[in-house]
Amino acid sequence: MPEIENAPNNALFGKYELGKLLGCGAFAKVFHARNVRTGQSVAIKVINKKKIAGTSLMSNIKREISIMRKLNHPNIVKLYEVLASKTKIYFVLELIKGGELFAKIAKGRFTEDLSRKYFQQLISAVGFCHSRGIFHRDLKPENLLLDENGNLKISDFGLSAVKEQIRPDGLLHTLCGTPAYVAPEILTKRGYDGAMVDVWSCGVVLYVLNAGYLPFNDPNLMAMYKKIYKGEYRCPKWFSSDLRRFLSRLLDTNPEKRITIDEMMRDPWFKKGYKEVNFYE
Ligand code: ADP
Ligand code: MG
Repeated sequence: MPEIENAPNNALFGKYELGKLLGCGAFAKVFHARNVRTGQSVAIKVINKKKIAGTSLMSNIKREISIMRKLNHPNIVKLYEVLASKTKIYFVLELIKGGELFAKIAKGRFTEDLSRKYFQQLISAVGFCHSRGIFHRDLKPENLLLDENGNLKISDFGLSAVKEQIRPDGLLHTLCGTPAYVAPEILTKRGYDGAMVDVWSCGVVLYVLNAGYLPFNDPNLMAMYKKIYKGEYRCPKWFSSDLRRFLSRLLDTNPEKRITIDEMMRDPWFKKGYKEVNFYE
């Protein structure tokens, strides 16, 4: 990895040509780009160094980057390289062309079979990361992309730990979108297990895929937190009994009783048609 602190003025110069804006997050802007030498299309995520200046985040970012570069899984967006200039950090990423899963759900809920396919791909990727000590902590449909073949890809895995720490500065907090995916044990602020927090968020995603709306929702934020804390949600009538049972194991408010990823693999709802993915380290 290049030196992030003592970087040149223009890191991209000559290597990549930036194109149109693909998306905006709370934390960064993502552009279409082209590798000038090979012609390969990529996505480049641009982070302003000012936003992380004066914090200890730089060392976290470096650690997460070194782990992410080693993650090779068909359902995780690949990080090709990281470049830096005096003012910016650039993540050169695999370009994913099918847009956000969120945009697709906004057009209508999915069938149980399609939801299962996306959910299996999500869990395959999340389990892969957990086994390597990486926790996403910000799993939600906005961070799940679809490729041109309709396969799910988790975007910016690992960097969310960093994002969470940025939030307290107030500025980014307000932009960070819905807290609807947060696990009850996070609300009590007593420390939490990263794996179980991801399992909870996956439970919320599973509900959203099948329902087309959130399980815990309220215009009043405190009222929404109360519902999450109590695990108060209702399943729409079209949810099958197997799905209801499986979901209740993910949205268990007690992280010690909540289903683990290993246990999911043996669940009848989950394992229907599940194909173990082949990936290379
Ligand atoms: P943030 O960390 O600020 O939330 P994201 O990594 O989620 O930023 O990126 C913001 C948006 O940019 C995404 O929601 C998506 O629409 C788009 N995007 C991110 N990564 C890619 C990618 N690899 N290929 C295509 N679009 C992407
Ligand atoms: Mg995002």
